Amino acid sequence: MAHDHSHGPEQVWFTAICAVTLIAGALAEFTSILPGSIAIPFYIVSYISGGYHGLKDTLHHMRHGELNIHFLMIAAAIGAAVIGQWAEGAILLLLFSISGSLESFALDKSRNAIHSILKLRPSEALLKSADGSEQKVAVEDLQPGDVVIVKPGEHIPIDGLIRKGRTSIDQSAITGESVPVPKDPGDEVFAATLNENGVIEIEATRTVQDTTLAKIISLVESAQKNRAKTQRFLDSFEPKYAWVVVIAVIFLIFIPWLILGHELDSTFYRAMTVLVVASPCALIISTPASIISAIANGAKNGVLFKGGVYVEQSVEIDTIAFDKTGTLTIGRPEVTDLLAFDDRSKQFTENQQQIENLIALAAGCEQHSEHHLAEAVLHKATAMSVSPVAVEDVQAVPGRGVHGKFHNQRVAVGNLKLFEGESEKWPALIHEKAKELKGEGKTVVFAVKQSVPVGLIALADQVRPAALETLRALKKLGIKKMVMLTGDNEGVARSVAAQVGIDEVYAGLLPEEKVEVLEKLKKEGTVAMVGDGVNDAPALAISHLGIAMGAAGTDVALETADVVLMGDDLSKLPYLLKLSRKAKTVVWQNIVFSLAVIVTLLIGVFLVDLPLTLGVIAHEGSTLLVVMNGLRLLGSAN
Ligand code: ADP
Ligand code: MG
Repeated sequence: MAHDHSHGPEQVWFTAICAVTLIAGALAEFTSILPGSIAIPFYIVSYISGGYHGLKDTLHHMRHGELNIHFLMIAAAIGAAVIGQWAEGAILLLLFSISGSLESFALDKSRNAIHSILKLRPSEALLKSADGSEQKVAVEDLQPGDVVIVKPGEHIPIDGLIRKGRTSIDQSAITGESVPVPKDPGDEVFAATLNENGVIEIEATRTVQDTTLAKIISLVESAQKNRAKTQRFLDSFEPKYAWVVVIAVIFLIFIPWLILGHELDSTFYRAMTVLVVASPCALIISTPASIISAIANGAKNGVLFKGGVYVEQSVEIDTIAFDKTGTLTIGRPEVTDLLAFDDRSKQFTENQQQIENLIALAAGCEQHSEHHLAEAVLHKATAMSVSPVAVEDVQAVPGRGVHGKFHNQRVAVGNLKLFEGESEKWPALIHEKAKELKGEGKTVVFAVKQSVPVGLIALADQVRPAALETLRALKKLGIKKMVMLTGDNEGVARSVAAQVGIDEVYAGLLPEEKVEVLEKLKKEGTVAMVGDGVNDAPALAISHLGIAMGAAGTDVALETADVVLMGDDLSKLPYLLKLSRKAKTVVWQNIVFSLAVIVTLLIGVFLVDLPLTLGVIAHEGSTLLVVMNGLRLLGSAN
């Protein structure tokens, strides 16, 4: 019953004192082993130790002008003492205290499931200095740029990039991927993941407070504040319900006694029993116990819910909108065609110098962009041993491209939308070639200098291997509609859609147009949006459930989303739906069970004069059962 309040190990001591003094009191009262005169003092100690924590919570609530259910328990115990039933009152407080300890123990168990991944991060790292010497340092002292050495079998101490060595890494702590991932120089590694077989040197890219691991922990911690709707309802219901019970109990005492002429002691005893069995302890704990466990299960599997409310929201989803690049595709496009255009001859040219100029210019623009396409262009420049030109004042235009200044001339790389008003004047050949490439399912961007096209770059990305199967599984789980929202051209969009089984395609969208499509979809169903980019953030924000790709995702997308798929693993989407549905089932089982117990016991009180002690046992027992049922969600949901 100590819901929301965990009192730590000292509550165990209080509970023990309560039990011992209860036994001593009972021995004094009912046997001749101890003198009868010391019964009441023992009971008083028992009351104080058993009721201390409940009373503290109650007083805390009363100071805010609210009654909580602990108040009902304490009132019932005091009531029992008033009519001389000290032993029963003490049993009530003892069980109350025991179940309080067990409950905080159980809830800590699911919280610990989350925190246990923190323990995987080593506290020290082997720092390699510029002169080649090695020394152990605390991970807190590592700065971006520091190089650390990690040996096989060790956990990675910090987020960074591999500088030397190859290995495979078990990333399950962060991403939930069960299979180790091969890593080469240049690849990203995360703190707390396990280096399996190679010696590697890592260049730190973040300090310890900024690691992905630290983000996960803080996300999950704030998740407990974003409570599930059912829980919020129950929380606001609790004080009102407590008042109703108090008033009902007052009537139960005075009406039979004053009006019907019943004996005061027995009506009072019955009223105290009602007070206990009508307390909705199990009901109140039913939701948080389940939702926290579901969140912990998600965190273990690389699915981060940013709040209990999103676990519930996931159940309703019937439409899913996917971004294309980085979401349905891997987001590592490669340059497939590089076509330099010669403005004098109005022809494409094979001239090596002009081709190199084209990639140097494009790379110069893209150097300052974090877009997937930018990376591909830079990669191509490196492969051709061409250095990017120094472009200044670079600006990214989401959904369109980038532009800047080079030798005081306007230079730009992007799609046709970036060149609205000027592309119409370009030679027809440019448009024809672009159309042809798009027809092949490629992304096409134009490089332009002072309104004059200098060339075309075509890029192709790979569909995520898991995409087709995932979308099939989602269909099976009852998702009615799956659509694609992309800023890319129709040709690529259609080709990807056909490969993965998307129902509807919306291509060539600017970020605000993604929002418009989403608004439309929201009128017809409950919509989840899955995305990774800066351009997806507005859509993620207005969807019913925003889901971000964790590793490929930009920071804006991660912050805006309600759920993060740490491993970029689309196949976690069916898991997410199953987990949330299972959580909902458990929550409802708990609610129905708690209410049924209350009703049954109340009937028992009036029909068969249920003894207070039995009422107490049934009441506390049902509370614990509800918590245990919630903990089932810690187990697998696959
Ligand atoms: P998606 O919605 O599929 O994730 P984006 O909206 O991020 O794609 O990009 C849409 C289109 O905008 C790209 O296909 C490309 O034509 C253009 N674009 C955006 N950023 C860039 C860039 N840095 N360089 C070149 N083109 C870009
Ligand atoms: Mg994207």
